[in-house]
Amino acid sequence: MADSEDKEQFVATVSEDHETTCWGCGLRLILPSNAPVFKCGWCGAVTNQNDKKRENKWFWWKRLRDRCFVFVLLGFMLLVIGGGLWAVLPILFDNSLFAGVLHSFIAAVLSLSTLSTFALASFGCAGTPPIIQWGSYPVVGKGHLENYTFCHDCLKPKSPRSHHCRSCGFCILDMDHHCPFIGNCVGAANHRHFILFLISAVASMLYVAFMSAYVGSQIWPPLTYRQPLDPLSGINSDVAWRTLTESFLALLNSALLLTARGLVLVYLFFAGISVQIGLSVLLWQQLSYIYEGKTYLSHLSAQRTATDEVVEKDCKNILLFFGCPFSVSRLLPTVRDSQKRHRK
Ligand SMILES: [Zn+2]
Ligand SMILES: [Zn+2]
Ligand SMILES: [Zn+2]
Repeated sequence: MADSEDKEQFVATVSEDHETTCWGCGLRLILPSNAPVFKCGWCGAVTNQNDKKRENKWFWWKRLRDRCFVFVLLGFMLLVIGGGLWAVLPILFDNSLFAGVLHSFIAAVLSLSTLSTFALASFGCAGTPPIIQWGSYPVVGKGHLENYTFCHDCLKPKSPRSHHCRSCGFCILDMDHHCPFIGNCVGAANHRHFILFLISAVASMLYVAFMSAYVGSQIWPPLTYRQPLDPLSGINSDVAWRTLTESFLALLNSALLLTARGLVLVYLFFAGISVQIGLSVLLWQQLSYIYEGKTYLSHLSAQRTATDEVVEKDCKNILLFFGCPFSVSRLLPTVRDSQKRHRK
C-alpha cells in the first residue's frame, strides 16, 4: 500500500480524520484541516506532503560527464602553463638571468596556487549538513528540528541552511550554486577555496596576458610600411584612413612571418584577456554576495540566514569569510567551552 510505504520513509500521511505522524519526532499530530504543509509543535519539523522523491534519470552518466569535464579543464590549464613557460622563459632568460629567475618564480607561485585551489574546490567535499538524531520521541527534544524539512532523496532531515543538489546527489550545507567548471557544488566547506581559486585564476590570467604581450613585442617581426607616412602632412580623413590601412596591412604581413612561439603568444594573450574578464565578473558577483552576508541561492530565494538575523552589508563579512581576524582561542574550543560552562 502507498500509505505504508510512505510511513516507512517517515513521511507524514494525513488520514481522513486529519491525524498524522511527525517525521521528526514520531508524535501523533491532529491537524485542524488537511493542510499539505504543517509544522510540528514539539520538534519544529516541517512536513510538506507535496514534496516527494524526484526521479533523477541518468544520474551516474551525468556525474561521470561532469567529472570528465573537470579533468579536461585541468589538462587545459596544464597545457596553458606548459605552453606559456615554453614561449616566454627562453626569451626572458636571453634578456637577463635575473628576469628569467624572477618570472619563473612568479609563474610557479601562480600555477601552484591556481591548481591547488582548483583541486580543493573541485575534489573536496562541498559541505554536508550536520548529523542529527530524528524519528522518535523523546530522542528528539523540544525545538531540536526547528524548520527542518525531510529530504526524500537523501532520506534524512534537511536543515534550513541546506539545499539538495540533484547534480551531486546529496544535501549541501550553505549551498551557493552547482558549478559545472569544478564539477562540484560550492558550499560551506569549499566556498573559500572557490573564491581563492577565482582570485588566483584572475591574477594568473592577467599575468599571462601581460607577459605574452611583452614577450610578443620583443619577437614580433618588424613592421614594414609600403609607403612612408609623413607626420607633417596634416590630419585629414584621407590620411588617417591610409595610415590605418597601411598599419593593418603591415601588421598582417608581419603576423604571417610569426614563428610557432609567436602564434602561441598571440593565443595566450587573447585567451588570457577573455578568461580574465569572465572570471572577474564571477568574482565580483561572489564578493558582493559575501559582502551582503548571502549566498547566491539565499539571494535568489531572498531568504534570511538560518538564525533569522538580518546580516548587515559590511566589509567585515568578507574578512570573516576569509577567517579574519584570526584568533588563537579558536584553536582551543575545549578550553573556551569549559570556561563558558563554568560561568553559567
Ligand atoms: Zn515533531
Ligand atoms: Zn538531500
Ligand atoms: Zn552540486
